[in-house]
Amino acid sequence: MSDQVEKVVIIGSGPAGWTAAIYAARANLDPLVFEGAVTPENQQKGTLPLGQLALTTEVENYPSWPFADTEALVGLLRSALPPERFANVEHLSTSGPERRSIFGPELMELMRQQAMNFGARVITDDVVRVDFRVHPFRLWSLGGKEVQALSVIVATGARANYLGLESEERFKNRGVSACAVCDGALPRFRNQPLVVVGGGDSAMEEASYLTKFASKVYIVHRRDKFRASKIMQQRVLENPKIEVKWNRVVEEVLGNDEQGVTGVRLRSTVDDTREELQVAGMFLAIGHTPNTAFLEGQLELTDKGYIRWTQPFRTCTSVEGVFAAGDVADDYYRQAVTAAGTGCMAALDAERWLAAKGLL
Ligand code: NAP
Repeated sequence: MSDQVEKVVIIGSGPAGWTAAIYAARANLDPLVFEGAVTPENQQKGTLPLGQLALTTEVENYPSWPFADTEALVGLLRSALPPERFANVEHLSTSGPERRSIFGPELMELMRQQAMNFGARVITDDVVRVDFRVHPFRLWSLGGKEVQALSVIVATGARANYLGLESEERFKNRGVSACAVCDGALPRFRNQPLVVVGGGDSAMEEASYLTKFASKVYIVHRRDKFRASKIMQQRVLENPKIEVKWNRVVEEVLGNDEQGVTGVRLRSTVDDTREELQVAGMFLAIGHTPNTAFLEGQLELTDKGYIRWTQPFRTCTSVEGVFAAGDVADDYYRQAVTAAGTGCMAALDAERWLAAKGLL
């Protein structure tokens, strides 16, 4: 363990983490960011560095990124990023629309760079264990690093849920996906029938999006009513390429090693009937799980497992000096811009707490 005690350690590298890092760096807190590890397990779970936005295509609702010429966007990225980071996103613009909004991975690279420009230090590793019962707090990484911190900002986000079927696991990345916008345009799904599971706004959004590529989209929902907002439901119900399979669940994903997914078997939730749909892909849109396992119960969580903010309009948690930002504490708004907003709040909260305690 190094003797150095960090003023603030930020765990997570989505919009909340980088915004917290920008604010903390500009407040001379010299933040240390654990951006996550690049491991097959994180790849599988969807918890790689740069968070969920790194799994999306265009981000049309993050203010200040209206449509622009792709060439101009690429020029900006080339001038803002060092060559090795630009290389991570260069391939995104080789095909696609001439005018577009920013892509998720590009936005995240820019946020990361902005934080680094102000001096944020970055470790590409996961925090796997913490001790918040002592102060300075102690944190351990997957790679065996141990650090001490006067304050911590947890911004580890959330990840997509799966049904938990063995057959689903078998066909992950071979027809099973939890991110239509990341994978929908892949050749294996083009002009093929696809299925989306879920009845919330995400399911509506993903089904509508997939109609751009698929020959037909089934939505499988376990009840006879959607949870989604009326306007999104309406868009789906009016789309001739979408058929809803009400009161059904996916019992089995069908396929083989050569082709990947070839179908799904559905079971009715109201009687004993079963049916098979021939589809080339299954997209899950059944909610998210916050990334809090590494906390091992040291912070108070909500019923749904999200970190509990303990004071209104503050990012304080149940442990003084530990703050939470973004989707790990928010199952309600879950937007890039709100995550960034709470990241800013967490950095300001940490700075003010450290000052009030005479720790600066
Ligand atoms: P959600 O609203 O929690 O919906 C999850 C859906 O999955 C529900 O319909 C649920 O069924 C179903 N489900 C859950 N577990 C299941 C299982 N094991 N098997 C089968 N079905 C299962 O999640 P979300 O759609 O991801 O939305 C989360 C939040 O983000 C919401 O606040 C939403 O409004 C927001 N959002 C907004 C937009 C937008 O406005 N553009 C887009 C996406 C998300 P039941 O209904 O039966 O519980």
